[in-house]
Amino acid sequence: MIAGGGAAGFFAALACAETASGAEISIFEKSSQFLSKVKISGGGRCNVTHAEFDAREFSKRYPRGGRALISAFGKFQARDTVAWFESRGVKLKVEGDGRMFPTTDSSQTIIDCLLDACRRAGIKLKTNCGVESAIKKPDGGFEITLSNGGHLLCDKLLLATGGCRTPALGQLAVSLGHQLEPPVPSLFTFHIDTPWLRTLAGISVDRVEASVTESKLWETGAVLITHWGLSGPAILRLSAWGARELHAKNYSFPLQINWLPDLDEKTVAAEFQSRRNSQPARLVVNSPIAPLPSRLWEQLVLAAGLANDLRWSGLSRAGQHQLIQQLFRSEFHVTGKSLNKDEFVTCGGIRLSEVNFKTMESRICPGLFFAGEVLDIDGITGGFNFQSAWTTGWLAGKAMGS
Ligand SMILES: Cc1cc2nc3c(=O)[nH]c(=O)nc-3n(C[C@H](O)[C@H](O)[C@H](O)COP(=O)(O)OP(=O)(O)OC[C@H]3O[C@@H](n4cnc5c(N)ncnc54)[C@H](O)[C@@H]3O)c2cc1C
Repeated sequence: MIAGGGAAGFFAALACAETASGAEISIFEKSSQFLSKVKISGGGRCNVTHAEFDAREFSKRYPRGGRALISAFGKFQARDTVAWFESRGVKLKVEGDGRMFPTTDSSQTIIDCLLDACRRAGIKLKTNCGVESAIKKPDGGFEITLSNGGHLLCDKLLLATGGCRTPALGQLAVSLGHQLEPPVPSLFTFHIDTPWLRTLAGISVDRVEASVTESKLWETGAVLITHWGLSGPAILRLSAWGARELHAKNYSFPLQINWLPDLDEKTVAAEFQSRRNSQPARLVVNSPIAPLPSRLWEQLVLAAGLANDLRWSGLSRAGQHQLIQQLFRSEFHVTGKSLNKDEFVTCGGIRLSEVNFKTMESRICPGLFFAGEVLDIDGITGGFNFQSAWTTGWLAGKAMGS
């Protein structure tokens, strides 16, 4: 019996059906729809996995759970996901940044594939039917109470109920003896009140270095300036690696941005000198240093306290110092966070030391299995969260069927 009709639950059910052809397998989903997160994932395109086929490398993209996943990826990794879908008629394509999507660019393709495979395997599917409680029977198996008031017995139970955003959502596992690592959000964007930054909403910069002052958190990558602060891959990765630390700071902390991580200060100072000589009459605000977008450059010049009408010939040593500070060490204060609409996950969940990662079976309650985001595993954006669901679901299903 599988509680939760998401990516992990479906993959587990199908792997179980392949292993034990005679088994009676049911998926119970508490909401009215199966695979609702698959549907909205990747902006409706479903970023199924990531084109990185080295298990060890892949595992480095998980702020929590990476180490536990290495051996699991040894049995079922991104390459296997690609083959699994392809053998069922769904081709995946790779985008420039390594993310993999169905060639149809529609998450419905993935949903149709999983639903169709379940129907063919004779797996029973029930929506609007949550698992309310599970009691371990002394002679093995579980007595289940459903949200519709029904009761039933099962030999093996998989909890694939998704992220425990609140401790209450992990109650089923706790009632069977497990402990939850406290849930906090991961993959969020930063609120920054600095007015000049907000005037640049919509501008993205391909490579910056973002670091949280007085911590070891830093990331290099693209950022997007938004109406409320900063977003983009570098910020989302920072939020994932810092999920616990930033939560402890109540999402209020100083952030430093190096807008030119591929240049050093001496090179930029030499460039300023060359401009003093070669274009002394040109306005500083009008001559950005590549690769900065011109509007961002203009705001950085003003934030450095330089006048709008300052010419290169008039740039003093003190002014140059101020500008270099802004370019390499812009200081902001993050005052809060927002959900990233494209993808978010919960950091925290079932304590990993209580689960056998060869089988995904509980080390505390035999016959109980776990898969997907209910575990204390979360990845950065890019298909890593689904891959963890496919892998742990597949392992759990195989073990439940054998
Ligand atoms: C907007 C958004 C976009 C995303 N895009 C991507 C992406 O492109 N790529 C990627 O890798 N990851 C993405 N993710 C993350 C990814 O969706 C999740 O990590 C993944 O869905 C986890 O799968 P799961 O099966 O463990 O949980 P879920 O997909 O959350 O499924 C769990 C299911 O269990 C049900 N349930 C809960 N409690 C019970 C109960 N007691 N009884 C029965 N049923 C229950 C829930 O209703 C739910 O349907 C995205 C997340 C969001 C929110």
